[in-house]
Amino acid sequence: MKPPPTSAPSAATLTVNARRYRLPTHPTVVVCVDGCEPDYLAQAVAHGRMPLLQRVLAQGTALVADCVIPSFTNPNNLSIVTGAPPSVHGICGNYLYDTASRSEVMMNDPKWLRAPTLLAALAEAGQRVAVVTAKDKLCRLLGHGLRGVCFSAERADTANLTDNGITDVLALVGMPVASVYSAQLSEFVFAAGVRLMAGAQRPDVMYLSTTDYVQHKHAPGTPAADDFYAMMDGYLAQLDAMGCVIALTADHGMNAKTRMDAQPDVIYLQDVLDDWLGVAAARVILPITDPYVVHHGALGSFATVYLSDPGAAPSLAQRLAGLLGLETVLTRADAAARFELPADRIGDLVVVSERSTVIGTATSRHDLSALDAPLRSHGGVSEQRVPLVLNRRIDGLDPLRRWRNFDAFDLALNHAQ
Ligand SMILES: [Zn+2]
Repeated sequence: MKPPPTSAPSAATLTVNARRYRLPTHPTVVVCVDGCEPDYLAQAVAHGRMPLLQRVLAQGTALVADCVIPSFTNPNNLSIVTGAPPSVHGICGNYLYDTASRSEVMMNDPKWLRAPTLLAALAEAGQRVAVVTAKDKLCRLLGHGLRGVCFSAERADTANLTDNGITDVLALVGMPVASVYSAQLSEFVFAAGVRLMAGAQRPDVMYLSTTDYVQHKHAPGTPAADDFYAMMDGYLAQLDAMGCVIALTADHGMNAKTRMDAQPDVIYLQDVLDDWLGVAAARVILPITDPYVVHHGALGSFATVYLSDPGAAPSLAQRLAGLLGLETVLTRADAAARFELPADRIGDLVVVSERSTVIGTATSRHDLSALDAPLRSHGGVSEQRVPLVLNRRIDGLDPLRRWRNFDAFDLALNHAQ
């Protein structure tokens, strides 16, 4: 009798936010290195401090991708784990003006999230998923709907089975809880990732997200920056040796934002608009605002403006575009289209400053006394380029395509296994 025709079993897939992903056949790690301007990697490699990455760049896949604008932490981390821009997932900053309650609020609550994460969907499909972040503020968003492990280095000491799917994290990692303003907070993330991957409950998919404390203070190629990347390379080498598929990307780049005298180069936009329009005619919102402001004083290269007379937006955009240091000024509709932002969560204007310039609200509202190094920050189009590197060679990629950091899971799961 003739045997029945055989066909290769079709790989299990799932679809999230209109993108299809294959389930991994190898343990897969996506790393978001906060504030990783590509030059940090180049300088550390040039200085011989990243032997694993040097090999990966030669033998794996090395792309430069665009992050989402505003080039801030939360919008980009959510884009990476949803595979979609903020117009889909809804998180367009750390901070927003809630038109419903007419108040300025933090955007850390999952109630702002409009799309499911791939992480939650993978767990739903039976995959063992682990998420480790540096700061706790990201944990609730990244872990929304996730049945798996999700904890922050910042609150590692209080991680428990009910909230985090894990307990005794300090004993597992063998490190104390680090200060939120330290390189060790990010090292904890990598150390935890390696210990989880080496453990009995080995994750199928892991997402690691660090903090940009080092990048806010230290330029590419400086000793402290190189030390950070050498540390990271050591942990990535351990994951690589365990057979993991690794995709490394970043939430945004980082640039010096200073004048020639090393003082912050700030356009105080609220002061400018109060002067032009009168007090209370405009409300400037800085979506970089978060509780951790010591390293950037809430100064970034992106602002959004709510006007009491929205009809004035086009002419005001034109006038603002003439200011030295501003790169792009768009009306709400134009900004939503160009940057793929949720139109209902941005103001009447979106203002982006140039590479060396940041935007403040009013002079009186920024305390820069805590800045102990020349300001480095992000938020603009000038910080949009980020690395997208995999430790597997992927043939046939279109070099002319505009890659995004939120293609990381697509490349890792669909092309690198
Ligand atoms: Zn960041």
